[in-house]
Amino acid sequence: MKTNQIYDQPSAMDFFNRIPDEDAARKYLASGRWPNGVTCIHCGHGEVWTINDGNLYTCKKCRKQFTARTGTVMEDSHIPLRKWIYAMYLMTISRKSISSVQLAKELGITQKSAWFMAHRLRESCQSTTKLSGTCEADETYVGGKEKNKHASKRKHEGRGGTGKSIVFGVKSRNGETRAKVIEVVNRKELHAAVKEAVASGAILYTDDHRGYHGLKDYRRTSVNHSDGQYVKGDAHTNSIESFWAVLKRAHFGTFHHWSKKHLERYVNEFVFKANTNGLPAFDKTGTDCGLTTVRAHMAGMNGKRLTYERLIA
Ligand SMILES: [Zn+2]
Repeated sequence: MKTNQIYDQPSAMDFFNRIPDEDAARKYLASGRWPNGVTCIHCGHGEVWTINDGNLYTCKKCRKQFTARTGTVMEDSHIPLRKWIYAMYLMTISRKSISSVQLAKELGITQKSAWFMAHRLRESCQSTTKLSGTCEADETYVGGKEKNKHASKRKHEGRGGTGKSIVFGVKSRNGETRAKVIEVVNRKELHAAVKEAVASGAILYTDDHRGYHGLKDYRRTSVNHSDGQYVKGDAHTNSIESFWAVLKRAHFGTFHHWSKKHLERYVNEFVFKANTNGLPAFDKTGTDCGLTTVRAHMAGMNGKRLTYERLIA
């Protein structure tokens, strides 16, 4: 892990120079969502009329209108775009995430708005492309009492500590991570989670949990943790376990308690951070410096929505 990542990042001052007003924020969002030019969100057509000084697009094919926010978690929000993008920046530079109290102070909005905003950003940073190559899969327990944190060692006897949630994760040795909350550690759940995250044909390293048995489409090797074996040749799950360590430090450091209901979105945030680790938060000068975390976030926003009703349901 890069311990100096924060200090290499553009500063808040750089951010405000780069995005001084709403017009700049809108242009920045449009270039992030559509790096190759604005594409109709309704039909995918690549030619649009830009009207109202760039605030509105009309598709030349289906004639439907949309803005840079349409079809994203920001669509129904009255919060200025500049604050949204600044929130993406803050989320990305804070390794342990940012609380809604802190976010509210930084943005000058209510804590309730900040909380809703942060969850919408977490909802929209999830990546769903399947991993390939050599992948490590593992499960862990999050939440509950600190004294139960080694509950994963007992998972072979069934469900872990009470009050804990189970997170399944995969890390490709190429770098990318996927993770999601699962209900129980059994064959049905684990098989479904592996198939959702990993392309068939991949090499898969797991622990010796019986739930992984019978996965046909992968070249699987298990490491027998219950016998104290943690590495067998190249087969180990140390990379995904280091992701668990980051997740758990954030859990106890910033939030103290993640409700089970919202855990999946917190997991999304940390997966996103892991997958964009080492990238600059944004491009300081406006010249193309390749991918940045804020641009990666914006590019993945198409079709992601989270209403307040769903959030509090
Ligand atoms: Zn269209």
